[in-house]
Amino acid sequence: MRVIAIDGPAGSGKSTVARAVAAALALDYLDTGAMYRAVTFAAMRRGIDPEDTDLVAELARALSLEVADTVTVDGVDATIEIRSPEVTRAVSTVAANPAVRRELVQRQREWAAAHGGGVIEGRDIGSVVFPDATLKVYLTADDGERAMRRSKEMLNLQYDQVAADIARRDHADSTRQASPLGVADDAVRLDTTSRPVEQVVEEVLRLAAE
Ligand code: C5P
Repeated sequence: MRVIAIDGPAGSGKSTVARAVAAALALDYLDTGAMYRAVTFAAMRRGIDPEDTDLVAELARALSLEVADTVTVDGVDATIEIRSPEVTRAVSTVAANPAVRRELVQRQREWAAAHGGGVIEGRDIGSVVFPDATLKVYLTADDGERAMRRSKEMLNLQYDQVAADIARRDHADSTRQASPLGVADDAVRLDTTSRPVEQVVEEVLRLAAE
C-alpha cells in the first residue's frame, strides 16, 4: 500500500501540495483536518459543548462522515461550514480528545486500506497514523507567510486575526497530551517560505520517485 504522508501546521501549504501530488500520481487524497473539523461542526450543530469529552467522543463514533471533494456530515453537506471561524476556534479542543483521535485514526487507516493507499495530509500522519508510510513529508513556512496565505483564503478575516488564530492553534496542537503534533524522525522537512507551489510539488514528486 502506497501512502504519502504530508504533515505540517496551518498555512504550510499541505492541502495545495497534497492535492497536486495526488493528481500527478493518480492516488486518492484525504484531508484529515477536515475530519476533525467535521466532528467539531457536528458537535456545535447539536449544541454539544466541545469540552464535553464523553459526549463528543460518543458523537465521533456514531457520526456518518464522508470526506472527499465535498464533506458530508450525517448526510448534510458541510464543505463550507467546517471552515468557519467558529469551527476553527473549537477544533483544537476536539482534536485534543483522545477518544476522538482513536476513532478518526481508525477511520483514516480504513480509508487507506479501502483506497489502496493515497496522499494523506494532517498533523500526525507520518508520526502516528502511518508510521510505515512510503514517503513522509513535513512542510513548514515562516509564521508571517503562513498567516498571509490563510488570510488570503479567508477574505472576510483580517491578517492580525488570522495570525493570532494560527499561533493559538499551533500552541494547542503542539502541547496537547493526546498525540501532540510531532515530526516523524524519517520525515523529509521542506520549508515552503517564498517558494512557488509548483517547485514544492516537483520536489515531493522527486522524493516519491526515489
Ligand atoms: O489542517 P487543518 O488546519 O484543517 O486542521 C484543523 C485542526 O485539526 C488542527 O488545528 C488540529 O487541531 C487538528 N488536526 C489534528 N490531526 C490531524 C489533522 C488535523 O489534530 N491529522
